[in-house]
Amino acid sequence: MVDVVIVGAGPAGLTLGCSLALRGIDCLVVERGHHPRPHVGESIMPSAIRVIREIGFHPVVEAAGFPKSGGVVYHPPVGFDVALAYRDFPREGIEQEHTYHVDRARFDMLLMKHAESLGCRVLEGVNVEEVLFGEDGYAGGIRGSFAGEELFVEARVVVDASGRATRIGRQLGLRREHPTLHQFALHAWFEGVDRGQRRTASWTHVHFVPEVRGWAWRSPINDTITSIGLVANRDRFQASALGVEEFFAYGLRGNRKLARATRRARRVDELKGEVSYSYALERVCGDGWLAIGDAARFIDPVFSSGVGVAMHSASSAAERIEAALTAGDSSRSAFLPYEDEVLATGAIWDDFTRLFYRLLPGFMHLLESKEHRPTLMRMIQGEIRPGDNRETLDELRSIVRRVEEADQHPWKDELLDFPD
Ligand SMILES: Cc1cc2nc3c(=O)[nH]c(=O)nc-3n(C[C@H](O)[C@H](O)[C@H](O)COP(=O)(O)OP(=O)(O)OC[C@H]3O[C@@H](n4cnc5c(N)ncnc54)[C@H](O)[C@@H]3O)c2cc1C
Repeated sequence: MVDVVIVGAGPAGLTLGCSLALRGIDCLVVERGHHPRPHVGESIMPSAIRVIREIGFHPVVEAAGFPKSGGVVYHPPVGFDVALAYRDFPREGIEQEHTYHVDRARFDMLLMKHAESLGCRVLEGVNVEEVLFGEDGYAGGIRGSFAGEELFVEARVVVDASGRATRIGRQLGLRREHPTLHQFALHAWFEGVDRGQRRTASWTHVHFVPEVRGWAWRSPINDTITSIGLVANRDRFQASALGVEEFFAYGLRGNRKLARATRRARRVDELKGEVSYSYALERVCGDGWLAIGDAARFIDPVFSSGVGVAMHSASSAAERIEAALTAGDSSRSAFLPYEDEVLATGAIWDDFTRLFYRLLPGFMHLLESKEHRPTLMRMIQGEIRPGDNRETLDELRSIVRRVEEADQHPWKDELLDFPD
């Protein structure tokens, strides 16, 4: 019997493992794969640094020499780029002016070693097949397979951190697909990419491509390798009759700056496809269990928020689990404050993402506006708090309304038929 068993050793599960170990709570992380394993999701959102510090992982990340990103550059299909430095928009509790691009195989591996160094046990090669529930309806452990044998682990609390596999969400039928955000992604690593001006060479670059909800990321992985990914609407891809290679090449050509940057680029690994549907669980906790990170919900990758959101959710789950174990009450009601927070912040990300896609020029307009830029940049850096981001979202919404209601407007054709 352990206090807490955590399904999945990604950033969510391992951050929780670190947080619980730091609180002296006995925990076991079970992971079906073996680190180092590749994973999509390489640009770390600035607000994640707060959690990286909280779990004592910051010196490891700094020493690892991951490329440092000092800001974000948006490259619209036409017109000027907008480059914004994080240092011009300071965030409470974070002194540094950069975040990181990480090779996730290495990042997750380092995080696992860090969790182990704090006293959290990690068992790899365990495929969890079922979360076990007692007659009282409380989750009380897991059943999985390990080295060809059945494995049972009893626990006082079970945490699902299985990412998009959403182990508990699927088992309990709680997973709901987003009604509209059905995207897909193609991505690979390249050598020989022209990273442009020195000041912004290692920043996060977002290139918009002339496709419905289409954009591409460009992020350095080390001195020579650059990750490039194309994200677009799934239905458009399926209707295009293009193969993945052709669609990817077409996407890269679709943005002038990206086409120029990749002119002499050479792909160094497989082109990988990724379904990036957004979804959420109806409930993210129950009697004896919680879901964290992507296992709780996933929202489109356009703001590179996934790893940061996963780490924040783990940090806040750790607080609730500690309180529950101390009080001897691991009922759903003990975990409800966690659920409230996840649902409220998730709703803000959801609004923000839909408004972004609904009218791209509206988003760019706010970025260029001196008045609204600081609050918009807070959101882009991952400072999402209920009640805090209303002004920016309302402003985006009102721009959309004005364009919708005008008989003629230069941005009318840019409005996507996409309910907010
Ligand atoms: C196209 C795309 C681009 C993205 N880009 C970014 C980005 O730039 N920045 C960013 O921050 N995020 C990005 N993300 C999101 C990011 O990948 C995830 O949000 C992040 O990995 C979530 O972490 P996690 O720990 O919740 O899940 P994961 O990292 O997926 O970890 C879950 C772990 O659980 C394990 N597991 C699954 N099922 C079982 C089982 N049954 N038994 C045992 N173990 C199991 C898996 O093997 C895995 O190791 C992107 C996502 C997509 C789709």
